[in-house]
Amino acid sequence: MIKRTFAQIAQLSGGTLSPAAEQVNDHTIEGVTTDSRKIEPGQLFIPLKGENFNGHHFVEDALGMGAALAFWETGEGEAPEHLPLVLVDNTLEALQQLAASYRAQLPVRVIGVTGSNGKTTTKDMVAAILSTTYKVHKTQGNFNNHIGLPLTLLQLEEDTEMAVIEMGMSGRGEIDLLSSIAGPEAALITNIGESHLLQLGSRKAIAEAKLEITAGLKADGLLVYNGDEPLLEEGLKQLDLPEEMLRFRFGMGDTNDLYPVGVMTDGDGTRFTLNLPNSSAFFIPMLGIHNVSNALAAIAVSKYMGVSEADIAKGLKDLKVTGMRIEIVKGKTGLTILNDAYNASPTSTKAALRLLEDLSGYRKKIAVLGDMLELGSEEADFHREIGRGLQPHLIDYVYTYGELAKLIAEEAEKQYPAGRVQAFDSKEDIVKKIASIVEPDVDIVLVKGSRGMKLEDVVNGLSELH
Ligand code: ATP
Ligand code: MG
Repeated sequence: MIKRTFAQIAQLSGGTLSPAAEQVNDHTIEGVTTDSRKIEPGQLFIPLKGENFNGHHFVEDALGMGAALAFWETGEGEAPEHLPLVLVDNTLEALQQLAASYRAQLPVRVIGVTGSNGKTTTKDMVAAILSTTYKVHKTQGNFNNHIGLPLTLLQLEEDTEMAVIEMGMSGRGEIDLLSSIAGPEAALITNIGESHLLQLGSRKAIAEAKLEITAGLKADGLLVYNGDEPLLEEGLKQLDLPEEMLRFRFGMGDTNDLYPVGVMTDGDGTRFTLNLPNSSAFFIPMLGIHNVSNALAAIAVSKYMGVSEADIAKGLKDLKVTGMRIEIVKGKTGLTILNDAYNASPTSTKAALRLLEDLSGYRKKIAVLGDMLELGSEEADFHREIGRGLQPHLIDYVYTYGELAKLIAEEAEKQYPAGRVQAFDSKEDIVKKIASIVEPDVDIVLVKGSRGMKLEDVVNGLSELH
């Protein structure tokens, strides 16, 4: 993590030291936090302002609890004279500037990961592969926004060789900012979905927003993008990117630079090889064709970073999957549950359903679907479309939870035999219902819904059955 003197911090963040800080300007800070409740000795405390809080109220406390130095926004009134402060115009922008200038001083090579779905998964894959060969730091959890990303960069060590940085967004201009701060040498776009359709208006606009990742990309860097998505290709043509910037397409289609061959899925994970001569065999401990797509993106960028196919295969095989992203859960009764309760959009719901359909070796396949939230004015249509796509010979039972998900049930009922589709208002009732029909050794249940629906309650209920 960042270690710099007070004087250097002022310089890197574009601020000036308060008289009390100036007197000890050769003292150092170690690490940065924005959370006054989690101060560690020697840290720089950065007070941010939210709708309901103002970190400046906690500056004195933070310094009392061991912080060495704090930022202070000049508009926040007279800075307390006796405190060691860096006076800045805007604490958020100063955090971003500090992160960008610290990053610029480091020899680290940065890989930026964006896309509508699969960012965290792909980030974890890239980091796992690169870790076979390099000293790697990656975004922790989902720290992927205008605050989390700078904080992530400030965690880098002087000798970190590679940083795998997730970049999230909810509107235009955000990825541009994040990419400019992080300065990636390789940028990766996993896919284009419907999340943030509400804010952006069209899938085309979403594609353009993701392509903003090229803003901070090195002129002779690498852009790896999903070649199955025509909107990305179109969006790229509109951009005036440097000739020497490498472009590389991955995806399922055989016109891509990299595509999978011989994909095989069983209950443990997925196997595939590549369309390249003498390709190694790869295994990922994950299900779903979309995860093969994520793996291809990770493979492409890792090859560029000089990792051998053998090490790539090893990194992927040993991957620790972050919870709730199509995690395979075995219940006490032996029931197989596919836990995808982390979040849901139409794209990721279709991907999860397709996975359930494709799995062989199970007798009854049951889908538990919750509301997909934040989809804007067409939310009802998105739910109905999922319902229309469900087929009784591929998925045997469909249970929904939530008001919007009722529309899935309403459509599905049209093609299903009576009693196989049911809309519920209680998660407990879903668990009871499944308990009454399931044969644990041979059946499988997929659970998928938006974060706000907290469908992990269903997963937990099912896994506790005995
Ligand atoms: P967030 O916006 O919450 O940070 P994310 O982009 O990091 O999401 P993940 O956390 O990796 O995405 O995955 C979230 C969901 O998207 C999971 O339900 C997963 O099944 C699905 N998903 C992952 N990769 C893809 C993909 N390439 N295409 C479609 N759906 C995907
Ligand atoms: Mg994420």
